[in-house]
Amino acid sequence: MVRAPQPLLHYSVTPLLLIVFALIVCANASRAAEAPKIWEEFSGENAFAHVQRLVDLGPRPSGSKAIEKSRDYLEDQLRRAGWQVTRQAFSDDTPRGKIQFVNLIAQFSGEKKAASPSFLLCSHYDTKMFDAIRFVGANDSGSSTGLLLELARVIGQHPNLARKTELVFFDGEEAFVQFSEADGLYGSRYFAKQLQNGGAKQPARSATHSVAGGFRAGILFDMVGDRSLDITLPADSPPEMARDIFAAAEALKLRGYFTYLDRGMTDDHTPLNAIGVPTIDIIDFDFPWWHTADDTIDKISAPSLQIVGSVALYYLSEFALK
Ligand SMILES: [Zn+2]
Repeated sequence: MVRAPQPLLHYSVTPLLLIVFALIVCANASRAAEAPKIWEEFSGENAFAHVQRLVDLGPRPSGSKAIEKSRDYLEDQLRRAGWQVTRQAFSDDTPRGKIQFVNLIAQFSGEKKAASPSFLLCSHYDTKMFDAIRFVGANDSGSSTGLLLELARVIGQHPNLARKTELVFFDGEEAFVQFSEADGLYGSRYFAKQLQNGGAKQPARSATHSVAGGFRAGILFDMVGDRSLDITLPADSPPEMARDIFAAAEALKLRGYFTYLDRGMTDDHTPLNAIGVPTIDIIDFDFPWWHTADDTIDKISAPSLQIVGSVALYYLSEFALK
């Protein structure tokens, strides 16, 4: 038995072990310092399940019993995800007479209430009223509503991001007859007017906020679930926002799903842009079943919702709210 070399071995191995140990500690520390990839937390399956729940309620036109049920569902889901929900109720004259509308506005309910939200994330949640067909609106407006609920869950787990955002579910996007100054966009027109008058928000915003309601910008989601996804950003989108959305898609290797529409678009982002809150409409207007009885759950898919949700989160965390 030769024991002599052991101390020698002992002394030579210790520094090596220390170095290895130090390297492991450093590697872990740098991993911990890495920002969380919030876009990887979005679940297209979760968003799809929300759409299914909404579609199961049947047609959900403004003023109906079914849309009231959908409101209860939205409020419940939002509260579970840590958001405080306010009902912005109003009535307006429509071609079908006076209708009661309710926008749902959600703000994050953390302890720190210092900063007012500066970014809007929106979707309409009513479905178009038809007398002759049963229209359940899986894509229009189920898909964007389900997507926004899943965004609420993910963003709600990141209070720093959540405090900067306000979620708005618009009622009355659909026209009863045809889009005009007085028909359609009831909820977003009312919301924008309140914002402009400064009456929509509690608490009051700081004087440093110059744009309406303190909002720098916003995203509107509409018809984002088509199985064959082809997001068509309207030609009149705020150029900087469109550029960053494309860049976010590129970074996630999803650029092929995003293109420009060859024209502008009237949607819930229109009244917001009109009061000076640059808002981009993330919409797939290439949807053969638009406003038909065939806008059903089988026309949309979880992977499509996943694509839009993750690009939106990448855009928010790496560009808009960085
Ligand atoms: Zn529609």
